[in-house]
Amino acid sequence: MKYPTIAIDGYSSCGKSTLAKDIANALNYVYVDSGAMYRAFTLHLINKGLLKDGAYLKSQVIEELNSAEISFRFNTETQKSETYLNGINVEKDIRSSAISRQVSPISAIGEVRTKMVAIQQQMGLEGRVVMDGRDIGTVVFPNAEVKLFMTASNDIRAQRRIIELHDKGEQITLDDVKKSLAQRDYQDMHREISPLQKAVDAIEIDNSELTRDEQLKLALSIIHQRIETLQFTS
Ligand code: C5P
Repeated sequence: MKYPTIAIDGYSSCGKSTLAKDIANALNYVYVDSGAMYRAFTLHLINKGLLKDGAYLKSQVIEELNSAEISFRFNTETQKSETYLNGINVEKDIRSSAISRQVSPISAIGEVRTKMVAIQQQMGLEGRVVMDGRDIGTVVFPNAEVKLFMTASNDIRAQRRIIELHDKGEQITLDDVKKSLAQRDYQDMHREISPLQKAVDAIEIDNSELTRDEQLKLALSIIHQRIETLQFTS
């Protein structure tokens, strides 16, 4: 058996990336934040003046796919993987609410998805990867050995998100955060291509009441159990 792949999907601000990073650290796997790729491409379009207040021309977006080179580099100081767009570190810029507001329609474009999914699949060829996103267990790695689907209550998600945004100096109300999360989830769940949905073989984790440590413990026990079962049956 090749090294396992762990796919984590779920709604916005459910703690997917926190859990994915913790699993990667615990198991010495590579962590890939697939959402960062869609965010970086959205930033590229804004920088180029091709996406303004949510308005864009699909043909121009598709044309830009070849001029946005998106990669990840591990920062040894922060011990975190960071996102680069055409050689520039955009890790902070891609987390703004302006990007969050505009990313979903861009990520719904078929050509954009085809390109991102191909890169993601390439990153996962050797296994030993934890990737989080919206279509990882359904489309990117439908044969992933472990699939998790994260949920949390709307209030908890909005509270987590507002803390992140306030830490970055963005002034936004809880109500606006709630609206923006609900809108993004709706768009991600209702797009035509690879909508956000739970894979039939994914295990759901609701982390509303779990601490970071508790969710990691739970996920690791699911992963170990799953891998053990696979070794016995393959
Ligand atoms: O995970 P994150 O919130 O950073 O993702 C930002 C957006 O990128 C999502 O709301 C979704 O529109 C898009 N996305 C996607 N498929 C993925 C990961 C993210 O469509 N695998």
